[in-house]
Amino acid sequence: MQHERICTKCHEHPVVYFRAYSGEYLCRKCYIWSIEDKAAKTMSKFSMMRYGDRIAVGVSGGKDSLSLLYVLKKISDHHGGTEIIAVTIDEGIEGYRDESLQIVKQFCSKLGVQTNIQSYRSLFGVDMDEAMVSRPSDKMSSCSICGTFRRRALDIAAESVGADVIATAHNLDDQLQTFLINLLAGDVERIGWIYPEPVQYGPDGLRKIKPFVEIYEREIAFYALLQEIPFQSQECPYMHESVRTELREFMNNLENNRPGIKYNAYNSMMKISKQLRAAPATEAEKCSICGRCSTGSICSVCRTASILKQRSAD
Ligand SMILES: [Zn+2]
Ligand SMILES: [Zn+2]
Repeated sequence: MQHERICTKCHEHPVVYFRAYSGEYLCRKCYIWSIEDKAAKTMSKFSMMRYGDRIAVGVSGGKDSLSLLYVLKKISDHHGGTEIIAVTIDEGIEGYRDESLQIVKQFCSKLGVQTNIQSYRSLFGVDMDEAMVSRPSDKMSSCSICGTFRRRALDIAAESVGADVIATAHNLDDQLQTFLINLLAGDVERIGWIYPEPVQYGPDGLRKIKPFVEIYEREIAFYALLQEIPFQSQECPYMHESVRTELREFMNNLENNRPGIKYNAYNSMMKISKQLRAAPATEAEKCSICGRCSTGSICSVCRTASILKQRSAD
């Protein structure tokens, strides 16, 4: 007769998940708790949240960001003293974004969370589908255009709802990929930007936080599944241009044969990043187009937008 395996944490309920890197067999309840507890501990370790914060959560409609919204809303409801608002960016990718906007709207109304949607088209005069046609060459990758615009769009969205903080759902895998991309590109300075100590930036001192940075992507996906969080199934049609996708598969293959290797690599990355951590980029000048702080006379967002718009008008 076969016995059902019992959770190694509570010794009560049947197992739903085996955490290979720690050797734990977890029941549903203990698994859910472990994820929420990890996010709370990460936030406390890096002083990410303060009493009275108005937190704008960047919500794309994927499993990571909807799970983050869910977890932060739960913590906020439980402890009080913080307010959660969802901010969503419409990149203008036909078919892909339409599905997720629907999911975001429905999920937010179920949670009772206000949503703010900003689009690349209205903010920068060009959307991603157009950018992919008008970009001067493949060297200007979809992800670099999109990343430049997204950071600015999130800032604007957060400011427009009067937020103190922007929370994004970057997970351990994302951080590790960013580290490896910078390492392979020889971009050592950027490695110093990964360390998640809250950075004050912008005239209003908006803070950026990443509560999921110490959690595996796969574990967030399983959390979303257990909590029945709906999420967009479609992949971004432009994602395969990025070396990120290859690094993601590479690291997951290593992890499958050597559980915990991603966590070890993450810890090494954190030590290196902390050593290299520099003062936030000195952005003394003001961009002559948008008036925001910039490292040159025109900021990278305005520069990118003007290249793309010029060419789409030709
Ligand atoms: Zn348990
Ligand atoms: Zn500018």
